[in-house]
Amino acid sequence: MLTQLLRAPLASLLVFCLLAAPSVVAQPANHSTRTADQAPKNIILLIPDGFGPASATFARDYIRATTGRFELAFDSLHVGSTRTASSDSRITDSAAAGTALATGHKTYNGAISVDSTGQPVAHLVEAAEERGMATGLVVTSRITHATPAVFSAHVRDRGEEDRIAIQQLDAGIEILMGGGLRHFLPEASGGQRTDGRNLVDEATEAGYHVVRSASALKQAPREGALLGLFADSHMAYEIDRAQTQQPSLATMTGHALDRLSGSEDGFFLMVEGSRIDHAGHSNDAAAHLHDILAFEEAVTAALDYARSDGETLVLVLSDHETGGLSVGRNRDGEGIYQWHPEPLAKVSASQGAMARSIMAGEQPERVLATSAGIDSLRAEETQRLHASTGNPRALHAALSEIIGRRSLVGWTSLAHTAVDVSTYAYGPGWEAFIGSHENTYIATALARLLGVDLRELTPRPEAAVNPAP
Ligand SMILES: [Zn+2]
Repeated sequence: MLTQLLRAPLASLLVFCLLAAPSVVAQPANHSTRTADQAPKNIILLIPDGFGPASATFARDYIRATTGRFELAFDSLHVGSTRTASSDSRITDSAAAGTALATGHKTYNGAISVDSTGQPVAHLVEAAEERGMATGLVVTSRITHATPAVFSAHVRDRGEEDRIAIQQLDAGIEILMGGGLRHFLPEASGGQRTDGRNLVDEATEAGYHVVRSASALKQAPREGALLGLFADSHMAYEIDRAQTQQPSLATMTGHALDRLSGSEDGFFLMVEGSRIDHAGHSNDAAAHLHDILAFEEAVTAALDYARSDGETLVLVLSDHETGGLSVGRNRDGEGIYQWHPEPLAKVSASQGAMARSIMAGEQPERVLATSAGIDSLRAEETQRLHASTGNPRALHAALSEIIGRRSLVGWTSLAHTAVDVSTYAYGPGWEAFIGSHENTYIATALARLLGVDLRELTPRPEAAVNPAP
């Protein structure tokens, strides 16, 4: 290639350079600066829950159409794909998918770091703790929800969130941030716990600094263990977050990195863009989009850290696809070679928020105009909205169809789908993730980079460990 280039006439050399230039700009120097045959000191695993390959195209096309940016912050780190089936279904749930990523075991849907026979199996946070590393979990769902749970608890049914909360505080994890306050407080204090325990008080006694708002997080000391519980249940969709006192995923990630970076023996941080998945379940394109963009900001914070640190592996991969998102769809029985990101830029609320306004008695036409920028509804759309005002599910479907028809975005499921998801990696050890792998491989490869064999590690389902570093 180089000799051909030297022999080429000047004109063709110039053409070559002009053609080559955009791809050089679009491709940050990730691959060249990723160092080989070296184990990372720190690992940041970022999971965009429910983010399939179509979600990447969807978000990338949106930022190209509405900003000066050409691609997602992690696009150029793409190294392969991950297969997601669980032990009892070709379509996994988040518990089985998370268990595979965290422990290296295929298990049944609903299992939280137990194998297909229900026996606890060691997860990556236990491997990191074994190595003396500091650990953290940062999510936008309840912290007791499936993905954070598989990195901090062992239960046979993901619904046992009150038990998961107890185990999370006993796991020696330095940083826990997300929603789910209701599983930490007894009924008498506004929570849902029926055992009367106040885990917020117990966490404080065990050495956690507890915060419940973005401003409290900002003022929190940058050392010691931290428990951030910013919502009773899940945190808000990013598109609705301005109406809350909740921090963004990127703010939480940056705060976690500030605290964890002091660990001499390195750290393991798991960050989940949890509600990308929930928006997929609701077939809510705008909420899906904004939670992806919020997740991308968190990835940027992680990559900035890794690029300056040089000892940190950043791995970005989803647990499964949600919603069967289609970027392009039929309209009135016709296939169309287009999709339009622009109408999504006018949407300023989740479909859930719009549905709540309509069910509270606001005129559907007015809600669509103010929250989705849609002034002219077709007669059948108005009719469908008015017929759905007493039925949240029907209302969601009507709103999804109205927005999808205009952007030509489609959905094929209210659940997950079986499609492989993409893997992105940067930093020492990144080569281990090149190619197409079962999701169980991810945990095995990460443990190997940590120098730990997960199958030789004893899980600690009820271990009482002091959380302070
Ligand atoms: Zn999931």
